[in-house]
Amino acid sequence: MSRTVHRGIRQCPCQDCRESPKSATAEQHQTINWVVASFDEKGRRLFVAYLASQSGRGAIEHLAQITGMSPNTIRRGLADLKQPLEDSPYRVRQPGGGRKPVEKKRSGRHPGFGESVARCYGR
Ligand SMILES: [Zn+2]
Repeated sequence: MSRTVHRGIRQCPCQDCRESPKSATAEQHQTINWVVASFDEKGRRLFVAYLASQSGRGAIEHLAQITGMSPNTIRRGLADLKQPLEDSPYRVRQPGGGRKPVEKKRSGRHPGFGESVARCYGR
């Protein structure tokens, strides 16, 4: 995968990236920083925390070096990831919000799908 590096996207300062900027590792670090740059602050924290959760020991410090985020911020993201979705501060809708279930939307005035099809075909 090749990609033009845009301004504003962090360049990873790790040894692999400095010594072999075309290596697979450097490419991976560039991709991480490219994705991180596309998120807002909360998204960055959660994404990098997710990456850290998928790696082993030392992942927080390693991702902090790659992304420039503070290890404490990544740890906070890990704590956020452990919260159940309904308690998450990142939940978009309030409980009970959003569109009503389809069954509740139908009223007696509108025919069901089967009745509507039957009417179209004169049955
Ligand atoms: Zn790197």
